[in-house]
Amino acid sequence: MNRPFNFSAGPAVMPEEVLAQAAAEMLDWHGSGMSVMEMSHRGKEFGQIATEAEADLRELLEVPSHFKLLFMQGGGLAENAIVPLNLSRGETADFVVTGSWSQKSAQEAARYCTAHEAANTQSSGFTMLADPASWQLSKQPAYVHLCSNETINGVEYQALPNLKALGCDAPLVIDFSSHVASRPVDWSRVGLAFGGAQKNLGPAGLTLVVVRDDLLDRALPICPSAFTYKTVADNASMYNTPPTYSIYIAGLVFKWLKRQGGIAAMEARNITKAELLYGAIDSSALYLNRVEKHCRSRMNVPFYLRDEALNDAFLAGARERGLLQLKGHKSVGGMRASIYNALPIEGVQALVSYMRDFEAQHG
Ligand SMILES: *Cc1c(COP(=O)(O)O)cnc(C)c1O
Repeated sequence: MNRPFNFSAGPAVMPEEVLAQAAAEMLDWHGSGMSVMEMSHRGKEFGQIATEAEADLRELLEVPSHFKLLFMQGGGLAENAIVPLNLSRGETADFVVTGSWSQKSAQEAARYCTAHEAANTQSSGFTMLADPASWQLSKQPAYVHLCSNETINGVEYQALPNLKALGCDAPLVIDFSSHVASRPVDWSRVGLAFGGAQKNLGPAGLTLVVVRDDLLDRALPICPSAFTYKTVADNASMYNTPPTYSIYIAGLVFKWLKRQGGIAAMEARNITKAELLYGAIDSSALYLNRVEKHCRSRMNVPFYLRDEALNDAFLAGARERGLLQLKGHKSVGGMRASIYNALPIEGVQALVSYMRDFEAQHG
């Protein structure tokens, strides 16, 4: 079998070793005689799977002990409602709008609280981040939300802002769906982080929430019990049936990440991959990335062909070479290469080589 290189933004490429292990264990997990998807979430076997997954992820991401790590459902979009239901107290929350996802978060939160835009970079076409010193924070926001990697627009924070240094005591909420586990997180700056698993952690259906202990007691009475962080935490993510198979596969990904050398090693590889691809784009006369260099995403690389009439030919030629899912998001057009942890350097090399050949033919 010749696996193609999959540049999908999510659900996305998985480590081949993980898929092979899951296949080998599909009918009989460790002599249990059962597939993991047939197990009771309250049984001893699945209990071990979930406990190890949590411990491995906590170790990988270096999550301090005063944060809870929750396995939930509903994805990033559900968190856009679940976060204000849990943290806003119905008051004002601030949003730093730097792309499609933070914009969506602000819109959804406005159903539950006052959503104040502290910054908005839309006039740049979402090609930059706003300097924290320029943010118009409200007096006492319940929290400040930002998307630390904008999957559609390809902008990424290289460092998280220090709210305290800006004179703001509020907790920082980050949507790290599309770059979690690709780089370390500075937890001293974070109150809550959430992300869907389907970009960098595993299959769709699992949502990761990492929340500081002191933020567990603020939920609005209308918050559904299954989405109340304290309830989920008090029940070790088993208040209701968790997405057991997705947790199992994510757990295999965490063990794979540890075998790769952990997050620091992944970050080094991700830097190499991103530099290779951006270098090819910047040195070409055909391809173009509009994002300011210092805030370019290492995970999601949108690019355009200067002659858009060549788009279909570019995508068709890519498919022939086994380079899949390169079409840009419909809201921005062009191309997008998502180069998550599980996308090997060989995939980026193959893409760059194809881009050069295509340019030589059509440029
Ligand atoms: C994919 C994504 C989401 C949405 O996730 P769903 O699981 O589809 O709800 C939210 N935020 C970011 C940054 C994303 O990349």
